[in-house]
Order: sequence, then structure tokens, then C-alpha cells
Amino acid sequence: MTSYAFPPAAIPSLPVVGSTARYPVSRIFCVGRNYHAHALEMGNPVDKSTMKPFYFTKTPSTLIESGATVPYPCGTRNYHYEMELVVAIGAAGFRVAESDAERMIFGYAAGLDMTRRDLQLVAREQGRPWDLGKDFEKSAVCTPIVPRGNLGVLTSGVISLQVNGETKQSADISQLIWNIPELLTDLSQYYHLQPGDLIYTGTPEGVGAVKSDDRISGHIDRVGDISLTIGQPE
Ligand code: MN
Repeated sequence: MTSYAFPPAAIPSLPVVGSTARYPVSRIFCVGRNYHAHALEMGNPVDKSTMKPFYFTKTPSTLIESGATVPYPCGTRNYHYEMELVVAIGAAGFRVAESDAERMIFGYAAGLDMTRRDLQLVAREQGRPWDLGKDFEKSAVCTPIVPRGNLGVLTSGVISLQVNGETKQSADISQLIWNIPELLTDLSQYYHLQPGDLIYTGTPEGVGAVKSDDRISGHIDRVGDISLTIGQPE
């Protein structure tokens, strides 16, 4: 038995719909600018013919399950939601073909890539890493995972988000600039993808700020519904 100087942190994990076994999360990859209208609202249009997708990561310990109340985070005055389809990897893959995507997908979830937008934009302007804006405690919200089953490779379906019942984001998975097979092929050029990897596939247009006592709810067809309540500042 390995002896530790103090008890190690728990393994981050998510429920799996229809199973008592949880999905253990080892890495969280996030895709930047993967819907044209969102790229435009952020001031960085995407030309797929000349550009490639880019990624940032969140520490697995930032994971928090849908339904939670999270404190309004420290260090920001512009705390944003980003509603996203999450792909959960279930089989290893390195330098894979697009035709390998389906066998690599364990399932899907709805996620919120919560963002300290003011810190992200300062970092972006100064050419610095986005970590302070993206990789902070309780910033990776996720629903239980729906096994791939007969969903196959998702190519369409409504993705939407409401704040206090008012629709803020409404788009379709078919509007992804880089679809799921393309993302798995590209990301696997840089990483040995493995079971336990989550991929947040990017957010559609309509991102915006929330404040204490706001309630976020989101939906993705055939995948699930997510909710998050914003508590008081820490
Ligand atoms: Mn995002």
C-alpha cells in the first residue's frame, strides 16, 4: 500500500445514467471558438479553411455536478455562463481517423464552462494564459453522462440556456465549426486520449454575465438538462 503524507483528494467523477458506476474524470479539455456566431461576438471570427481548433484545459478538481449552488467566485466582476455539449471519452485513441470517433465516445453530457470573463480578456489581450479566467474552482459544471447507446455520433440537436427563465442562448449542435469526429481527430494529434477525458465542445452565441441569486438552466436534446444557482460572493 502506498503511504501518503495526507489523504489524497477524491477522484472527480460523474454519475452515469442507467448505471450505479460513476465515470471517473481524469482530464477536462475545452474547445475555444467553435460556433461562428460566438466567435464573432467575442471579436475573433473563425475561417475554418485557414484555421485550426484550439483548446484550453480545466483541472479535474474544478468539476461540479449540475444542480449545485456555487458561490459568486472571487477575483471577478464579470462572471459568465457558456452552455456546451460535453463528449466523454470511453476508449483510448492517438492520431485517430474521423471514422474512429464513434467507438471512442463513452457518452454525452450537458456542461457549463463558467468563466471569469474580465480575467480571460485581460489575459487574451496580454498574450498570457487563460487559467485565471477559465480554470478556477467549481467552474466545470456537468450533468450525468448519457451513454452513447444508439445516439451514435451526435450531429444535431437544440442546445439552449436560460437565466431566471429568460432564453439567452439557443442554437443547434449542427452549427459546431469543428464537429465531434473532427475534434477527436485533431485533439488526438496532441494527446493520447483515454477513458476519463471530457471534451467541452464550445459554446454558441449569447454568452453573458450572471449575479448572485441567478438561476441558470440549460438543455441539450437527447442529452439532458443542467442547472446552476449562483450564491453569494465568497
Ligand atoms: Mn467554452
